[in-house]
Amino acid sequence: MAIVQPLETNGTGRRFSVASPQTGKRLGEVDITSPAEVRAAVARARAAQPAWEKLGFDARAKYMWRALELLLAKQEQYMDVIIGETGRSRPETIMMEIFPACDSLSYYAKHSKKILADRKVSPHLLKTKKILISYRALGVVGIITPWNGPFILALNPAVQALMAGNTVVIKPSDVTPFSGKLVADLFAAAGLPKDVLTIVEGDGETGGALVDAGVNKISFTGSVRTGRKVGEACGRNLIPCTLELGGKDPMIVCEDADMERAVGGAVFGGFMNAGQFCCSTERVYVVDSIAEEFTRRVVDKVKALKLGSSGEFDIGPMIWPQQLETIERHVEDARAKGAKILCGGRRAREIGDLFYEPTVLTDVTHDMAIMREETFGPILPIVRVKDDREALGLANDSVYGLSATVWSRDDDRAISLAKQIDSGSVCINDSSITYGAIEAPFGGRKTSGVGQVNGETGLRGYAFAVPIVIERFNLKEEAVWFPYTEAKGKMLQKIMRWVWGTPLGRIFG
Ligand code: NAD
Repeated sequence: MAIVQPLETNGTGRRFSVASPQTGKRLGEVDITSPAEVRAAVARARAAQPAWEKLGFDARAKYMWRALELLLAKQEQYMDVIIGETGRSRPETIMMEIFPACDSLSYYAKHSKKILADRKVSPHLLKTKKILISYRALGVVGIITPWNGPFILALNPAVQALMAGNTVVIKPSDVTPFSGKLVADLFAAAGLPKDVLTIVEGDGETGGALVDAGVNKISFTGSVRTGRKVGEACGRNLIPCTLELGGKDPMIVCEDADMERAVGGAVFGGFMNAGQFCCSTERVYVVDSIAEEFTRRVVDKVKALKLGSSGEFDIGPMIWPQQLETIERHVEDARAKGAKILCGGRRAREIGDLFYEPTVLTDVTHDMAIMREETFGPILPIVRVKDDREALGLANDSVYGLSATVWSRDDDRAISLAKQIDSGSVCINDSSITYGAIEAPFGGRKTSGVGQVNGETGLRGYAFAVPIVIERFNLKEEAVWFPYTEAKGKMLQKIMRWVWGTPLGRIFG
């Protein structure tokens, strides 16, 4: 069952069709934007950028508020498109896509002006100067997005880039092109000036063309494999990028954890979006003394999850066959190496071609692919550990470092563990909700990414901080200007001796 299928075009450019992962029914056809058209889109975005930046924050925010009103009004229509392409349940679509999109539009409309306002910095040493940090837009931002959050992962960076005064060109995943296009539809309906936000459609070739099309920054979300290529291309083009990549998030359950909450959190963290979530819980480390009860209760809860494609259900399909193949490879490798499958462990063909039963495994070890590679499916491997220390060692034994969770009734203990985990973020007593906590900078460590998005840090990443250094006294000349004399050198040495060589100097220096 192919979700994305190339079509014959009689040499008039490339074209593909997209099908629903729920039903296999064709959803529509898309013309691939050629590299020349991508360059033209970026050139138009560049021409539109100065006027957009000049509008100022208040005027730009008005477009965000208008888009928010429209999204609230048309959310059912938008959800139909997203659900058609992803197969998710409606409540999950509201939670993962529409709710955070509304929050993003509102938060950045409200706060961008303050976050990007000129800042005065008082120099610690050069007391005759004043420093003003002024934020300028970068220019044109290219946004490349994956299929697993096809609307929000395009909208949220776009809102930040736009509010910072950039124009934007988005390349959505070819698996979910219509959900990505909704972002352009929304802003067009909100009356955004022409060429301020453009969508280009296609696959890796189109994404590659966008990176090379003269943009001033790339905001990329996707796999580690593609992220490396994008990072290399950005390096070649000498443009900044954020790379939001894959993960293998660990969950540490301490013996004093609230059992009910930890069990619920493990199931939600592992199976939300059918496990196709960058911050899915993909490894659970639970302390021996509570492992038996924890595992039994997790399995009971997982067995109660409802797979489906209509009515009320919890777990939808995998997005496409490639995803199922990875899951099967990981489960079979684990099974062959001695893992016990407590529930699931097979496709659910009776529901549809792309469904996999929610699966819980124990007796897993770090020599299994399921503990080392990103699975991105409804699979929860549980490992028993002696204590927090062993859990921490195993949690950090990964090339990934996107997010993590710690479960304990003792905040100090949990915070101490959180600070020792090598990941971009950590949640205590909750599944990974950092991306939804919009003020929190979000990004990965190790192979999980480069840079951060969201909040002050993310928004400032869409701008260039220009320091303006202002002389306060305007004397006729500075003591270090030409001509150089021995006396000037000696004067500097005297200052150094006093500033860094005396206790009083160190206080003031
Ligand atoms: P992917 O890397 O296959 O594709 C991502 C995007 O990159 C798509 O739009 C694709 O067309 C484009 N692309 C492919 N080759 C390219 C190239 N050479 N140059 C430029 N663009 C190119 O990822 P995917 O399968 O769509 O998404 C799933 C992955 O995304 C998972 O690994 C998941 O963990 C990750 N993800 C990370 C985050 C995060 O915030 N860290 C969020 C969501 C998903």
